[in-house]
Amino acid sequence: MFKFIVLFGSLCIISSLHAQDYRWQQRAEYVMDVRLDVKTHKISGNQKLTYYNNSKDTLRKVYYHLFFNAFQPGSMMDVRSRNIADPDPRVGSRILKLKDDEIGYQHIQNLKQDGKDVSYKVDGTILEVILAKPILPNTKTVLEMKYETQVPIQIRRSGRNSSEGIAYSMTQWYPKVAEYDFQGWHAYQYVAREFHGVWGDFDVKITLDPSYIIGGTGRLQNPEKIGHGYEKSGTPVKKQSGELTWHFIAKNVTDFAWAADPDYTHDIVQVPDGPELHFFYQKGDKTTENWKKLQQAGIRHFEFMNKTFGKYPYDTYSIIQGGDGGMEYPMCTLITGERSFGSLAGVMAHEVSHSWYQGVLASNEALYAWLDEGYTDFASSESIASMFNEKNPHADSYGGYFALVKSGLQEPISQHSDHYTTNRAYGIAAYSMGTIFLHQLKYIIGEELFYKGMRQYYNTWKFKHPEPIDFIRVMEKVSGQQLKWYLNYWVNTTKRIDYGIQTVIENENATFATLERKGEFPMPIDLVVTYKDGTKELFYIAMNETLGGKPVEDTSMTRNELEAWPWVNPTYVVKINRKASEIATLEIDPSMRMADIDRKNNLIDISQGLKAYTDPTK
Ligand SMILES: [Zn+2]
Repeated sequence: MFKFIVLFGSLCIISSLHAQDYRWQQRAEYVMDVRLDVKTHKISGNQKLTYYNNSKDTLRKVYYHLFFNAFQPGSMMDVRSRNIADPDPRVGSRILKLKDDEIGYQHIQNLKQDGKDVSYKVDGTILEVILAKPILPNTKTVLEMKYETQVPIQIRRSGRNSSEGIAYSMTQWYPKVAEYDFQGWHAYQYVAREFHGVWGDFDVKITLDPSYIIGGTGRLQNPEKIGHGYEKSGTPVKKQSGELTWHFIAKNVTDFAWAADPDYTHDIVQVPDGPELHFFYQKGDKTTENWKKLQQAGIRHFEFMNKTFGKYPYDTYSIIQGGDGGMEYPMCTLITGERSFGSLAGVMAHEVSHSWYQGVLASNEALYAWLDEGYTDFASSESIASMFNEKNPHADSYGGYFALVKSGLQEPISQHSDHYTTNRAYGIAAYSMGTIFLHQLKYIIGEELFYKGMRQYYNTWKFKHPEPIDFIRVMEKVSGQQLKWYLNYWVNTTKRIDYGIQTVIENENATFATLERKGEFPMPIDLVVTYKDGTKELFYIAMNETLGGKPVEDTSMTRNELEAWPWVNPTYVVKINRKASEIATLEIDPSMRMADIDRKNNLIDISQGLKAYTDPTK
C-alpha cells in the first residue's frame, strides 16, 4: 500500500534449492465461478479449493479470511478505527454509519470437504472449518464452498462506488484460506492492514453485466469473446446481450484481485523484454493526460526494477484506477487516479515495486510490514529518483524517522502491523525504517555488494515466504560479514545510533581524534578527514561483531583500514599521521547513510585551529 502520510547463474540455482529444502510451504489451487449482480451488489459464488498440506503436521482445522465482514458497524475494524489516537481518515467512523444495504458480508451457504459436509463457525472476519477428516502431511483435500457476498460501500481498499466513481474495487473479496507455515496458522482478524496468502493458482470466472470492463490479476483467457481492448485481432467484438463471463487464470500467485467499471478506458503497452502493461482508467480532465504519460513511466520503472532488483516473472501487469490510495496485488494494483503526474508516477512506482517485495518475495506482511513496505519504498524511491534526476531519494525516510524518535512514539518494528499504538508509529516503522534498514546496509557492506545481495535475495527466495533472517543470511553470504546484530538492533529494539567526535589533539606531528559511541547501537565507522590542500582520506573502522568489513567504495580517496572497534567500547582513538594544522575537517559518515540521531557532533571544522576541540567538555 502507499503511505497515506505523504503522499543469477548456477550459484542461484543452488541457493534456491537450498531455500526449498528447509522451508516447506502450503499450496492452494482455487477454481472460482462467481456472478455479480450490479443492481443488488451481491455476489453468488462457488469456490473449489484444492489444498495441499506440505507440512509435517496433521491438520484438523482450516481457517479462511472473510474480509468483507469487517465492513459492519461494531466490527473490530470499526472499533479499532474509532479508538486509535490517530485514525486513518479514510475509515474514521464511516463503518459505524453503514446501512444494511451498504455493509459488506460473506455468508457461507454450504461447505464440503471431499464431498462431505463439514461444520464451521464464523468469528468476525475469520471462518474456522472443523474438517470432516484430518489432512495428513503431504496429502491434499478439496474444499467446496457456496457463498453469498454483499459488496460494501468502499471504505478501505475494496468496495463499490469509490470516491472517484469506480463501480467495483474487488480486493480481499473472496473467502481466502489463511496461511499455515512453520509458525502455525496466520488467521488474523482484519482490523486495518497487511495481508498474507498461500502460494497457488487461480482459475476465476466472473459473470456480470456486459457493459462492465474488468481489469485484474492474471491473464484473460477469452479475449476474443470479451473485446473491451483485450482482443488483438482488430475485429471489434459484437455487442453482447445478456451477461458476459470473464475467465482469468493466474499461476503461482498468493491472491487474486479485480476491478470493474463501465467507463474504463483500457490501454496496453509492452515493456521491452518484459510484461504487457494494461492501464484501466476513467477518461476525464483530471486523468486522461496523466494516465497517457504514465504508460511510458510504467515501462521505465519496470526496466529499472528488472535491472536493479531481478526480473519480473509474469507476462502481464495491470494498473487500475480504483480503491483508495494505492494497494498492491499479484500482477496488478488499484490506485486512485485523479492525481498530479508526479503523484501518479510515485504511487504507480510504489505499487509496481510491490511485485518484487510482496508479489514475488511474499513475506508475511502482517508480521514484517517493513520487509514489504520498506523494501518497496526503497526501490520505488530509487527508480523515481533516476526517472526525475533527483538526489537523496531516501532523505524523507530519515527525516520521518528522526521526527518519530523525537516524538517519543517509536515502537519496535518487529511488531505485528495491526498492533502499533499509533498509525504514525506504524507508518514510519514500516515505510521509513524499512527503507533506512536497506540504505544503511549499503553503508555497512558497501554499495556494490548490497545490490548484488538484493538480486541474490530475490533469486533465492522468489515464490516463497522469506523471513527477515533469510534476507540477512543472503546478505551475510554475499558480504562475508556477520550481520545478525544489525537485524536485531534495528528490528527488535528502539536503540539509536549516535556517534560523535569527542576530542582532537596533536602530539608529535600527529593528530589524534577520539570518537565516541554515545548511542547503544554499534556501527562500523567511516571517518573522512579533509585536508586544507583539498585532499581527503578515509579512516575505516569495522565493528568487531561483523567479523569483517566492506570493500573500498570510493576510489577517489585513500582508505586506511583500522583495527575493528569492539562494540562494548564507548570510545576509539584514531591516529592521523599529519599535523592538526594541515586538517580542515573531520566527519563521521559524510554519506549520511547512517541514521545517526544527532549529527551535530559528527563534523568538526578545525581549519581555524584546534583550540575549540582540545578540551573535552561533555
Ligand atoms: Zn506499499
